[in-house]
Amino acid sequence: MKTYQLIVIGGGPAGLAAANAAWEAGLRSILIVERDRHLGGILNQCIHNGFGLHFFGEELSGPEYAGRFIDMVAKTGVEVLTDTMVLSLTRDREVYVSNTRGCSVLRGESVILAMGCRERARGAVDIPGSRPAGVFTAGTAQMYMNLLGYSVGRRVVIRGTGDIGLIMARRMTLEGAKVLACIGASDHADGLARNVQQCLRDFDIPLLLNHTVTEVRGKNRVEQVVAMQTDAKRNLIPGTEIVFDCDTLLLSIGLIPENELTRGAGIPLDRRTNGAVVYENCETEAPGVFACGNVLQVHDLVDFVTAESVRAGEAAADYVLRGAKPMGEVFDMVSGANVKYTVPMKVRKDNVGKALEVSFRVTRMFGPDAAVRVMQGEKQVARFKRPYLSSSEMEKIKLPWVLLKDLNAADGPLTVSAEEEEAKS
Ligand SMILES: Cc1cc2nc3c(=O)[nH]c(=O)nc-3n(C[C@H](O)[C@H](O)[C@H](O)COP(=O)(O)OP(=O)(O)OC[C@H]3O[C@@H](n4cnc5c(N)ncnc54)[C@H](O)[C@@H]3O)c2cc1C
Repeated sequence: MKTYQLIVIGGGPAGLAAANAAWEAGLRSILIVERDRHLGGILNQCIHNGFGLHFFGEELSGPEYAGRFIDMVAKTGVEVLTDTMVLSLTRDREVYVSNTRGCSVLRGESVILAMGCRERARGAVDIPGSRPAGVFTAGTAQMYMNLLGYSVGRRVVIRGTGDIGLIMARRMTLEGAKVLACIGASDHADGLARNVQQCLRDFDIPLLLNHTVTEVRGKNRVEQVVAMQTDAKRNLIPGTEIVFDCDTLLLSIGLIPENELTRGAGIPLDRRTNGAVVYENCETEAPGVFACGNVLQVHDLVDFVTAESVRAGEAAADYVLRGAKPMGEVFDMVSGANVKYTVPMKVRKDNVGKALEVSFRVTRMFGPDAAVRVMQGEKQVARFKRPYLSSSEMEKIKLPWVLLKDLNAADGPLTVSAEEEEAKS
């Protein structure tokens, strides 16, 4: 069985950044396994710009951003196996791979999970009606248009207001299609504010909030899509039907981290993120197995995927070169009021370094003056002011070590909550 110091599963932006960081941190036997024919992951089909502003200080397209990391990895001695699928993984880091040459088993002294995520499809939201051609997830339509050069439809309705749907509204308009509406179930768009402006408003595409799709009509191809307004409890309001004559329905209704391998290895998953439970350095509860990128938590911006994956790569190198971290005191990190989840979920106090970075999502909009509070029981550990907090964006705080050093894990979990600033007198 061939052994590597590190096996990275997935050659998207997360896997590439992690492998490169592990090489820079001193590992010399690293393998990236990618099921696709090319490295780069989903970014290969994201041909619009807006990538790299945080990491490179430049505006790049998705393939350009991925290309930078593919070039970096090519300058190292990292081995790459494309067209190769990881079929399963064990807790002690045996990796079963399959390609045209057959199946084999590899072993990693460490493993990084970087398998990204997939899109929720029609079954996830139970849209009634017939099952004609013309219903696509937004990412599938993006792949057909941008990688294969097919036009997927001429008159389009989009269900869901996530970033991929917003970006596809603009993309299809630029290709000459008519986007009749982008329909969202809640009272705000799920995607980034900049995408609502640049992809819908700038193109006069109607955004129908508090609405949902109630029926798909058509025999061979979609002919009509029916939408209805919903009340605050998401009940349908009778008499509000809108019938769109269209040939295409795109779905942008969320992403699911690809954690079949993780589950198969018996690595605990968090039910809020659908990703692995991780410690402060992206290590899962299986020693030497790390997770980063969209397989850990769904990110809005690839720049933050890169930052997280660099941390995972460095941590894997540290694990191989210097051994497992002592457990010491372990804090649980949990979401309090108005917070959906936190990453990490567990914190080894002795491994925090100068500061602990925590990412999380809030449940609604807060602002113009908002705050994030970290508590242990009744004790306030830290409070961070923010001009606003948006449920459409991943938020981050950095907890300096000095605020953690005198806490005892036995006194309870660290709770992260979001709130409006108290009124100033
Ligand atoms: C359809 C879609 C469109 C998106 N569009 C945008 C956008 O326009 N702008 C934006 O900022 N963000 C976009 N995103 C978010 C984007 O996914 C992330 O910013 C970033 O690509 C995540 O990087 P990743 O490496 O974690 O995942 P990915 O880019 O998804 O890479 C994961 C890689 O793992 C490989 N893999 C998975 N399982 C296995 C296995 N078992 N064996 C071998 N290889 C495996 C996959 O083939 C893939 O190459 C989009 C996401 C999706 C799903």
